[in-house]
Amino acid sequence: MSKRLFFPLVILTIFSMLFSACAQTPGASNGKLIVVATTTLIGDVAAKVGGDLIELSVMMPAGADPHSFEPAPADLSKVADADLVLVNGIEFEGFLEKLIENAGDEAKVVTVSEGIETIAFVEGADEHADEEHADEEHADEEHADEEHADEEHVDEEHAHDHGEFDPHVWQDPNNVIVWVNQMADALSARDSANAATYRANADVYIAELQTLDTWIKEQVAQIPEANRRLVTEHGTLGYFAARYGFEVVGAAIPGFSTLAEPSAQELAELADDIRDLDVKAIFVGNTVNANVASQIAQDTGIQLVPIYTDSLSPADGPAASYLDFMKFNVEAIVGALK
Ligand SMILES: [Zn+2]
Repeated sequence: MSKRLFFPLVILTIFSMLFSACAQTPGASNGKLIVVATTTLIGDVAAKVGGDLIELSVMMPAGADPHSFEPAPADLSKVADADLVLVNGIEFEGFLEKLIENAGDEAKVVTVSEGIETIAFVEGADEHADEEHADEEHADEEHADEEHADEEHVDEEHAHDHGEFDPHVWQDPNNVIVWVNQMADALSARDSANAATYRANADVYIAELQTLDTWIKEQVAQIPEANRRLVTEHGTLGYFAARYGFEVVGAAIPGFSTLAEPSAQELAELADDIRDLDVKAIFVGNTVNANVASQIAQDTGIQLVPIYTDSLSPADGPAASYLDFMKFNVEAIVGALK
């Protein structure tokens, strides 16, 4: 082989080796793991666990409705380039299938809610008046044996329209502790050199979540028991209610998604329940159109109270972190019901 041909070949070989080295670690950037979180809430928690060891981007802007959000091509290419993609799961992200397709490697998509005991959809309004006592008796059983509860209580077709399981797990800080542990494990598995730091970050934040849980219990104690009844614009507060001793009377949009349309009959039944049970307020999240909820508030003469449900506020708002989000909501709920 002549020298003339040999040198370009060597250079070409070196370039192709360099190129394939890059291709093997698509996310690598200053040695940091590239992490994509779907929602603002997951993003905030991931930032606490990953600290400055990760390069984090959050797919949804503050205030976007995760139930109806559609990622742009740029979002999907970020997913392709990421080392780790953190998703809520429980059918919260409607685009999850598309996200996994674009991830290239399904193993890098981590469902942070995995391991959380989910709340199943139970037909609300009618049962409520007739079977209130029975529901209470069965509550523990249902939690203990979810499959059994599904068979007995969930009209499957109907439940599917409304979302079968409640995805809004973050409304109980104890579920966010599950997220934190999932994140610490996932980050450590991909960056074992920094595992001790991820664990330490996780433990610091878990202590803050436990403090938050205690604070919420103290705040809720100000609300007379008879007033601990929640109506929302869609079913967002199930885990909060289960943890802190509230009863979910119903939602303007029945079920756990914003995508369903309430029927006139469902709205009339909810208004009846609000009057019968002397419910004080309807809480409306920051990711929805408040029209139906404000109509209910008008018809029944109760307060319409804004809270944060499926997204943090923008950075300069009052709920820019998960901890502030929960404090804002608890103060709003206590203020309206006490
Ligand atoms: Zn929601």
